Amino acid sequence: MNQAAPSYAEVVVNLPLQSGAFDYHIPETFSSTIKPGCLVEVPFGTQLVQGIVLKLVEVAQVPETKPIQSLVDPLPVLTGLQISLARQMAEETLSPLAMILELMIPPGLGKHGDIQYSISDGEGLASQSLTPLQTKVVALLHRRGSLRGRQINAAFPHIDWRKSIQPLIRSGWIFTQPVLPSPTVGPKTARTARLACPPGDVEKLGAESSRSEAVRQRRTAVLQFLSQEHLPVQVTWILAATGAKPADLAWLAEKGWIQWGETEIWRDPLEELEPAILPAPTLTPEQIFAVDGIARGLKQLAAGGNTPLFLLEGVTGSGKTEIYLQAAAKALELGRQVIILVPEISLTPQTVRRFLSRFTGRVGLIHSRLSDGERYDTWRRARSGHLDIIIGPRSALFAPLPHPGLIIIDECHDASYHQSEDPPFFDAVRSAELYAKISGSLLLLGSATPEITQRYRAERESWQVFRLPQRILAHNRAPSEPQNLPQFLPLPPVEIVDMRAELKEGNRSIFSRSLQDALNVVQKNGEQAILFLNRRGAATYVFCRTCGAILRCPRCDLPLTMHVDPDGLSCHSCGYNRKMPGKCPACGSNQIRQYGTGTQKVEQELNHLVPGLRTLRLDADTVQQKGSHEIILSHFVHHRADVLIGTQMLAKGLDLPLVTLVGVVLGDVGLTFPDYHTAERTFQVLTQVMGRAGRSVRGGRAILQTYQPEHHAIQFAARHDLEGFYRQELQFRRETHFPPFSRLVRLEYRHSRLQNAEQEAQKMAVRLRYWMEAEGFSSTDLVGPAPCFHGKRNGLYRWQIILRGPDPTALLRGKALEDWRVQVDPPDLL
Ligand code: ADP
Ligand code: ZN
Ligand code: ZN
Repeated sequence: MNQAAPSYAEVVVNLPLQSGAFDYHIPETFSSTIKPGCLVEVPFGTQLVQGIVLKLVEVAQVPETKPIQSLVDPLPVLTGLQISLARQMAEETLSPLAMILELMIPPGLGKHGDIQYSISDGEGLASQSLTPLQTKVVALLHRRGSLRGRQINAAFPHIDWRKSIQPLIRSGWIFTQPVLPSPTVGPKTARTARLACPPGDVEKLGAESSRSEAVRQRRTAVLQFLSQEHLPVQVTWILAATGAKPADLAWLAEKGWIQWGETEIWRDPLEELEPAILPAPTLTPEQIFAVDGIARGLKQLAAGGNTPLFLLEGVTGSGKTEIYLQAAAKALELGRQVIILVPEISLTPQTVRRFLSRFTGRVGLIHSRLSDGERYDTWRRARSGHLDIIIGPRSALFAPLPHPGLIIIDECHDASYHQSEDPPFFDAVRSAELYAKISGSLLLLGSATPEITQRYRAERESWQVFRLPQRILAHNRAPSEPQNLPQFLPLPPVEIVDMRAELKEGNRSIFSRSLQDALNVVQKNGEQAILFLNRRGAATYVFCRTCGAILRCPRCDLPLTMHVDPDGLSCHSCGYNRKMPGKCPACGSNQIRQYGTGTQKVEQELNHLVPGLRTLRLDADTVQQKGSHEIILSHFVHHRADVLIGTQMLAKGLDLPLVTLVGVVLGDVGLTFPDYHTAERTFQVLTQVMGRAGRSVRGGRAILQTYQPEHHAIQFAARHDLEGFYRQELQFRRETHFPPFSRLVRLEYRHSRLQNAEQEAQKMAVRLRYWMEAEGFSSTDLVGPAPCFHGKRNGLYRWQIILRGPDPTALLRGKALEDWRVQVDPPDLL
């Protein structure tokens, strides 16, 4: 019996100017293979473009349809669940559907990828009458075997051979298959250097070296440093430890003081810290309660029921990850797959390791260092059901798992879950919520500091909330004790130091006396410390003492940062560099000074105050090279440094037993930014970083230096009082009418000319006001238009308008907002 197959497909194409869904007819050869989710090539105007089949239909919307030309991959590239998710995301974020669909297709498929052509039926072909071009292509394939499109292009440049052989493909005589560049294999190596002279000769460098004192000092520092090491040391670490520049090393190598080498990059800084496979510990009663609750939820969902969302609120080290592991096991028992989102793989190596060792061979990792080929492999294994667990940053949500059942979002407050730089703008936490509903999965959010909005929703919408208020002791147990029974540790006591008072009493250092004393104790006991600088405050601004002008990036308008060594200034946003000017560009005065504090300055001053402490920096400058983040951490983990000085990067996921002191150099930087989130973000980062202290029986404490000791974010963070902070901040949000008591949409316009940006913004404000009036959006207000706080980015001026109300998205739906960047529920308004 012949079943009538639908003969049309609705295809979404992604084109710069015109994206949307169009109907195409399905040639007979594809009638059984084309399904929703297939990636196809279709004619559009005069070109051939890629598109996704959304659905099959029996009747086309238009009288004349063109045929689908080819199938890029014989299997659907998207699942039905993913298509539903894409539709809902597009609707909520006001993004074109095609753009959202593109998030879900592995990068490179069809783009960097290629199609391989092979002859599948030579005899059939021989009996055909072919066109001259077809004959040539077939002859080529006979002669050289399977070929990629690019290779055939090379043989027939400027000729549309693809079109000419389409009929042969459709009749099945030529077989096509998508191919991507194969994964790059082989170890990744890093450069090393070692001392090439006797250690005693190091002193002789002076005479031969540069005329510049600074350069001479740096070169000497490198030699002294290497003379204490017996083995070759990775270059990134030498640079981080000595403050030298690559040019210094090059000079030393050329002159024969040091010798280059190579070593395999250490991918996992924690490998030696923990045994590879740890048995699951006996759970604490709180953990059991949470795991049981999750297991019940999973069963309900498997039986077709509903559950609320789950929120796991536990201080750092309280055993959240152990709950994720056991929850994942429960989902697998039910035959469902698990997605775990983490802020960034390289920042959370311990979490990842535990999943890898507990579920060996079934875990797929997605991270930024995968080549397109490696990514495609993981993606394909997920699609075919060979992977049970996918771990990665926000893009891991879009792995094509056939039957997901559990989605876990670790550190669910983290800003990296927002895609906010390049469109389409979306929030992976919100998208995960949609996906969980669509796929009947359980969504588990975990954090020590959930967002105000998440916590508020948990209360209002009766989510299942589990709290883990105590830290578990996991290190340095006496061997005689039973290793599997949990013991608890207190959170570290926090001392707030008022830096204004320090100044009054004559201490001009960036280190308070308390912090100096504490660092001395760390040194005496052979322990380790972390010094934290808020990234937003880490910049060393340069300004003119005479006229007050701040030196700014000519491209971004952000203050330039001074680097102590190279006398250079640079922009942390776009990378612009210049030399430190001798005179103020505004008034000509030579009184140009730096103020503020950067990691380099902290390191210098520390080396001066507590000589002999081995310091290491972890910041945007020292981790520029791929892999250096891991290298720096591994050196710290192995106690090759006593103090790790760093920015936001070190706030996450580290569990280091020797760290007994966390010093926050300046806790209040960032509180002055004009954004309603700043108190919350400050509270979160302080809580996270201070939680790094005292993770073993050695105990620990934190010292929080600030100029605003009375600020509620500082006060509550020092008391580890999430509930208190939440109550007060909620009150503030209620009074100021910010989320969760309203929703925001940000409309941003960028232009190379300031005037145009402003004019466009003014025009848009008029349109918006008109729409609000006409459509009765009386409880929505329009804030702006105004220049953004970061008024310029990559040479473009930025203006913005904020809509605030119960549902401002509804106002914009279906309206043409061509060049505007529209962000629903933006992560910040800066
Ligand atoms: P979090 O994810 O909240 O930071 P983890 O799950 O990483 O907490 O737990 C912190 C440490 O305590 C880890 O080293 C972990 O192996 C250990 N741990 C977790 N649960 C238990 C338990 N029930 N008994 C003993 N050790 C545990
Ligand atoms: Zn000046
Ligand atoms: Zn810049």
